Amino acid sequence: MKVETLQQFCWAGDVDNHLKMQKPWSVGEFTFATNGHLLIKVPRLADVAEIVNPIDIANGWPKSEPSAWLDIPTCEAPAPVVCQKCNGKKAGQGACPECGGDGEVEFSNIYNTYTVDCATCDGEGEELECSTCDGTGTVEVIEGVAVGCSGFSKKYLALLATLPNCQIGPVDQCGPAWFRFDGGEGAICPVRPGVY
Ligand SMILES: [Zn+2]
Ligand SMILES: [Zn+2]
Repeated sequence: MKVETLQQFCWAGDVDNHLKMQKPWSVGEFTFATNGHLLIKVPRLADVAEIVNPIDIANGWPKSEPSAWLDIPTCEAPAPVVCQKCNGKKAGQGACPECGGDGEVEFSNIYNTYTVDCATCDGEGEELECSTCDGTGTVEVIEGVAVGCSGFSKKYLALLATLPNCQIGPVDQCGPAWFRFDGGEGAICPVRPGVY
């Protein structure tokens, strides 16, 4: 197992969030990674350090043994679709609508004229990133597929399928399932019924 492989299980969204999920970390004999949906545990990697106050993963594991060990169904992550909120406009493609790109706005009254940083764009002059798609212009589609007594995201199943001889062990419909592979184990959260 290489650290690059584990990195795929880390948080890959907005870099201002989930700081401790952005890289793998080690505790004792093991190295872990998580993105909040997946948790993976492998024998400790020499190049992954321990961190102060690591994420408490005790609640991330299934509460009981798997009902069965099943092969990962073949699936592909669904293609992203155009963001409805911004209509696919990428960040930095337009001038701020309030200040017209100046980054400042002027106010006047009978005494004075005031120049202030534009609050809409934080003084940047560019239209801020769309909060729905983080300025990428597209959003992920969550599609699930039933596996045993539960259902899981196709995107994450496709990732698990890249691990050697990976199998999934659902426990119940609502809780996380186990997965195991040559060289480690982990847990995966289900998707809601209706998504699969
Ligand atoms: Zn502005
Ligand atoms: Zn958007």
